[in-house]
Amino acid sequence: MKECEYRQINTGPGGAVTSPAAGTPPAPPPHGDAAAAGGGGGGGSCKKSRLRRKWEVFPGRNRFYCDGRIILASQSGVFMLTLGLILSTCGLFFVFDCPFLAEHLTVAVPIIGGVLFFFVMSSLLRTSFTDPGILPRATPDEAADLEKQIDSSGLSTYRPPPRTKEVVINGQVVKLKYCFTCKMFRPPRTSHCSLCDNCVERFDHHCPWVGNCVGKRNYRTFYMFILSLSFLTAFIFACVITHLTLRSQRANFLSALKESPASVLELVVCFFSVWSILGLSGFHTYLVASNLTTNEDIKGSWSSKRSSDESANPYSYSSIVTNCCAVLCGPIPPSVFRSLKSF
Ligand SMILES: [Zn+2]
Ligand SMILES: [Zn+2]
Repeated sequence: MKECEYRQINTGPGGAVTSPAAGTPPAPPPHGDAAAAGGGGGGGSCKKSRLRRKWEVFPGRNRFYCDGRIILASQSGVFMLTLGLILSTCGLFFVFDCPFLAEHLTVAVPIIGGVLFFFVMSSLLRTSFTDPGILPRATPDEAADLEKQIDSSGLSTYRPPPRTKEVVINGQVVKLKYCFTCKMFRPPRTSHCSLCDNCVERFDHHCPWVGNCVGKRNYRTFYMFILSLSFLTAFIFACVITHLTLRSQRANFLSALKESPASVLELVVCFFSVWSILGLSGFHTYLVASNLTTNEDIKGSWSSKRSSDESANPYSYSSIVTNCCAVLCGPIPPSVFRSLKSF
């Protein structure tokens, strides 16, 4: 993947931070903890008792279930509202509209509705309960080592050494900021979520509706969720209107409403939600096509302020198709937060 193809360069005259030469690495590795995870298999018996998963040591504000396989943000009230709205609206649709439409129109209505409902629920639950790509904080030893490197690089005794690093990505210089909470330089596209209190790789945004951060490991399922939800909402909306129209042909519209009062409720919920969901789907389709994150788009990280090619998005490929494939079909890395490490 393009994100990983960067190399460090020195900043400033003193060469702020050099590449890791000898000794321990300067920060916790953002990718692949093969050595640490490998310890889970066997290892020395005295070390085994001290092996712990990283989330157990640095939980942030997230909550963990099933040995860290299920993760949820601390505030999940809005997520419950999302679940309640989807389940109640779909429940009313399947109970009150589907039998009539299957009898008077086609049996395809409940089948299509069922398939869309399955997609919506599976992608929602996967987005909400998956580790979005949280990076564990530096251990005291790693933090002290990095601190030593930063201090030794600062030549001036009057000013504190710079807390930024510069890397080159596809010929473009990108600044990496130091995270004072996690005590490490954030890798490219990583940002610290103030609600979860953790650094998340390829941070998109924190979504209260799904009760989780949206990042490198769950962006794909998030996009599938909003896309399938927009189809489901539009489908239910169209079906309910058809249902009421067919009923009103027999008598009048008012008596049709009286015969199926649940349809009115569905109509109201779908009418008010479909526009925002469709808008959100369109916005994220644009982000996927340009290989951007919401965070980068809001901050205008790659907007051409200087109207030159230098400020172009360095992660974007030459074509829209390649961008879509890279975002939606690329491999999903294993959870670093669940890997084992001896502490
Ligand atoms: Zn952080
Ligand atoms: Zn978050």
